[in-house]
Amino acid sequence: MTKLSTIPQQQLSITCGLCKHHTMLEIANLIAVVGGDTTAHEVRQRARCHNCGVKGNNTYQIVYTGNSDVAMDGAEVRSDKFSYKPQK
Ligand SMILES: [Zn+2]
Repeated sequence: MTKLSTIPQQQLSITCGLCKHHTMLEIANLIAVVGGDTTAHEVRQRARCHNCGVKGNNTYQIVYTGNSDVAMDGAEVRSDKFSYKPQK
């Protein structure tokens, strides 16, 4: 299990299993609220969907949002955004 205290630079991406509502939670903010000993799995179980109100029925993903070379895919997406020009 991944404790929040080991991933303070990352985000928790939670998708509701019922309505597919998507939420991004800053791990640093979660640590401030629930403590660093809480695991990402526990947060998932306690998370309530803001759209339909269902609790615990969701999937989660830990997302790296820093600027280091770890997130290769993210870097590609970002550079696409900056260089994007509509084709005519
Ligand atoms: Zn929902």
